[in-house]
Amino acid sequence: MPNVDLHCHSTASDGSLSPRELLDHAREQGVDVLALTDHDTTAGLASASQAANEAGVRLVPGIEISVSWGGRTLHILGLNIDPDNAALNQGLIRLREFRHWRAKEIARKLDKAGIPGSYDAVCRMSGEQIISRTHFARFLVENGHAKDIKQVFKRYLVSGKPGHVAGKWASLAEAIDWIHGAGGRAVIAHPARYSLSATKLRVLFNEFKEMGGDGLEVACGSQSRRECQRMAQYARQYDLLASCGSDYHGPQHAWLALGRVAPLPTDCTPVWYDWDIM
Ligand code: AMP
Ligand code: MN
Ligand code: MN
Ligand code: MN
Repeated sequence: MPNVDLHCHSTASDGSLSPRELLDHAREQGVDVLALTDHDTTAGLASASQAANEAGVRLVPGIEISVSWGGRTLHILGLNIDPDNAALNQGLIRLREFRHWRAKEIARKLDKAGIPGSYDAVCRMSGEQIISRTHFARFLVENGHAKDIKQVFKRYLVSGKPGHVAGKWASLAEAIDWIHGAGGRAVIAHPARYSLSATKLRVLFNEFKEMGGDGLEVACGSQSRRECQRMAQYARQYDLLASCGSDYHGPQHAWLALGRVAPLPTDCTPVWYDWDIM
């Protein structure tokens, strides 16, 4: 069985390895097929593609699109997309503009809460790339406001906390359309992470399926074995394809290692079933 990891991040979004470092690490980890899925940007895909050729790893061009749905934020993966598709990139520009505005707003709120200097710090950290809450989290940990990334999110960056700003992302239908327009498959990322009740999950899967959505991330870094089994059941029930990915963000993040995601249950249809990648 090939080692397939269809979800990870580079310095083009909130990962800490450059696309090249990521591909070298994928080779070290024995990954055969890797999707780079940065948040709301395709900026890392060109250098990832070149590095993948050199490393002998098969690259699946991907994206993780931020979506607002029912008052929450969901993440929709686009797998096997054309990174140069005009409508997709036009849509992503809007999300990055929101990110830019939000970064200033988060910094303003932290300032008000007695924590100055975050905007300059996150701009420096992210280079010319997108600014994520992860960058704010790193800044806050480095300045002693929490002991780790997990704690800092809870204290500062989620709803009801001093640095929280509500998301105004793409609609679910837009994300699916952009991904399909770019020739890719739309997959709901880490479905167990949204704290949705069973009823709400069903509403989501029904809507997603009606809009033409393709798959569920059944196995991933932040889902337990039990959650993985449950998502596999949903995938079968809703006739959705199954994906797997570590959601790797770099060595200092406590999430799963690259290429170490659990294998998909054998009764799922893998999202790559008809791709010429193996
Ligand atoms: P953003 O898209 O900028 O709102 O940031 C979302 C990112 O923050 C996610 O992709 C994760 O990488 C990270 N994140 C969110 N919640 C947590 C958490 N509790 N612990 C660690 N990282 C988190
Ligand atoms: Mn992230
Ligand atoms: Mn995500
Ligand atoms: Mn991710």
